[in-house]
Amino acid sequence: MKLHKGDKVLVTAGKDRGREGVVEKVWADKSRVLIPGVNQYKKHRKAQGEKQPGEILTLSRPLPVGNVALVCQKCKQPTRVGYRIINDKKVRICRKCDQNI
Ligand SMILES: [Zn+2]
Repeated sequence: MKLHKGDKVLVTAGKDRGREGVVEKVWADKSRVLIPGVNQYKKHRKAQGEKQPGEILTLSRPLPVGNVALVCQKCKQPTRVGYRIINDKKVRICRKCDQNI
């Protein structure tokens, strides 16, 4: 999985194209990420008895990772992610400035 929780990303496709956010959750098996405030929809919830009235909730749907680009902390540009092996560890690198991420 190229993206991790806490990564800053730019949305590159879909209705929220151009917006930035921070990855909150990653589904590696589905290749999707949840970015709060992006890809929102309204959910109408029925009243649950008298004490809990119905309401409209604004929630975010996960986005396919192909629709977002990682924003590099070093060069501040949206980039694709590369990998490099350093001391037997896999390290992510920015394809634009070649720095470790
Ligand atoms: Zn960079």
